[in-house]
Amino acid sequence: MHAMREAGQYFVNMKELNARVGERLAQLIGVEAATVTTGAAGAITMATAACVALRHPERIKQLPDTAGMRNEVIVQKSHRAYEKQVLHVGAKLIEVETLDELRAAINDRTAMLFFLNKADDKGQIDRATWVAVGREFGVPTFNDAAADTPPVEHLSAYVKMGFDLVCFSGGKGLRGPQSSGLLLGRKDLID
Ligand SMILES: *Cc1c(COP(=O)(O)O)cnc(C)c1O
Repeated sequence: MHAMREAGQYFVNMKELNARVGERLAQLIGVEAATVTTGAAGAITMATAACVALRHPERIKQLPDTAGMRNEVIVQKSHRAYEKQVLHVGAKLIEVETLDELRAAINDRTAMLFFLNKADDKGQIDRATWVAVGREFGVPTFNDAAADTPPVEHLSAYVKMGFDLVCFSGGKGLRGPQSSGLLLGRKDLID
């Protein structure tokens, strides 16, 4: 609270501040890149936008019109939650249950494979398999781990196991401000 009050006394360039804070967080957590978001919900929207516009950053300005872009996000039926955060971007959700269905659902419109960390044991496809399929097809994988810290090691664990992007809520186990969150992972996507 003291640090926030003190920081509030100064004008800063917000883009620069976000970039430097992200670098410092990435260093502290031990991941390639990081950025502060408006909650885990905001991180889901940012992650989806990054995956939809991957390799074409100028397209971010066109969203939520996803015409001509990869705009399908695949999710297991038992992992559906916080899906408005995906839909805001103009993407649509494709639901699967089995590994065969997942493999068959991936095509050249697939933008991202969405995983809900706490539902790992509820779906037929576990974390490691989700990551492996994403790697095989070259599609970014995202893990919503909003409330899944402590332990603090979890902050880097899912990126280290291969998820391209992972989010945490600042207002839950991190005990930060309610409307804050973290998006962690691959530098090209975070940028
Ligand atoms: C709480 C929660 C969110 C949203 O977190 P905020 O930081 O409040 O935006 C997203 N996903 C899951 C799984 C959550 O538990």
